Amino acid sequence: MIELVSQDRCVSCGICVRVCPTQVFDNGAKGIPTIARQEDCQTCFMCEAYCPADALYVAPEADRPVQVDEATLVAEGKLGKYRASLGWGTGRRSTAQEDDSFRILALAARAPTAPPQAPAAPTAPGPRP
Ligand code: SF4
Ligand code: SF4
Repeated sequence: MIELVSQDRCVSCGICVRVCPTQVFDNGAKGIPTIARQEDCQTCFMCEAYCPADALYVAPEADRPVQVDEATLVAEGKLGKYRASLGWGTGRRSTAQEDDSFRILALAARAPTAPPQAPAAPTAPGPRP
């Protein structure tokens, strides 16, 4: 769930406001977005992925808000970590070539499918009580 917009890092580009599929953000003062509808966050990480300033933190806890502290997040390298893991951003290299998940889909497509089940034979009615 979205937990933090860094006032210090945000460059007021408005990208997070536009990419969020559930309109969690409002435009705030000086173009710095505010988390206006946190309960609508789907924990999709889109905002964090697209933020060019690594100014957002989406916590993996999707079902409840958690307390975060910006200084701790910075110290732990967690601000913008998802974007970094994708290899997005200046000086980073895309990690798409290292993602093997597409192989699972290929294997699933080749897996034999179970033959259709014959319908169950009707059962004789039991004795009347
Ligand atoms: S994680 Fe997804 S749903 Fe939540 S604020 Fe970011 S873009 Fe919106
Ligand atoms: S995408 Fe990042 S830099 Fe741009 S407005 Fe949102 S928080 Fe600020």
